[in-house]
Amino acid sequence: MHKVSEQRSRNMSAIKSKNTKPEIAVRRLLHSMGYRFRLHRKDLPGSPDIVLPKYKTVIFVHGCFWHRHENCKYASTPKTRKEFWEKKFRENINRDNLNQANLALKGWKIIIIWECQLKGDKRKLIRDLLPN
Ligand SMILES: [Zn+2]
Repeated sequence: MHKVSEQRSRNMSAIKSKNTKPEIAVRRLLHSMGYRFRLHRKDLPGSPDIVLPKYKTVIFVHGCFWHRHENCKYASTPKTRKEFWEKKFRENINRDNLNQANLALKGWKIIIIWECQLKGDKRKLIRDLLPN
């Protein structure tokens, strides 16, 4: 029991935290590929993790669990307190959708990089997602 709640509070803090490990990995890679970007612009909806002004593109690096990556094995639902989690996940999804809709209205292109995608060839991923 103790262990579970410890892990839960770690997870709880994970959603709000910036500069997560996957985020830093993407930043490092973008930098090495010569992209110029800014971080967490508060004046944009959802303060996107990474902003590429030249391409009018924002990148969100999403954890599969919190942002509910569809059909992803990392987006499991905890067996206990199911209702609590489902409500929480719904709120997260709604917030993501709203932020993305508002960004699109302002003319921004939106790229979502899922945490699980970073387990593969990251360079290829960036090349496929971003303008060269
Ligand atoms: Zn995933």
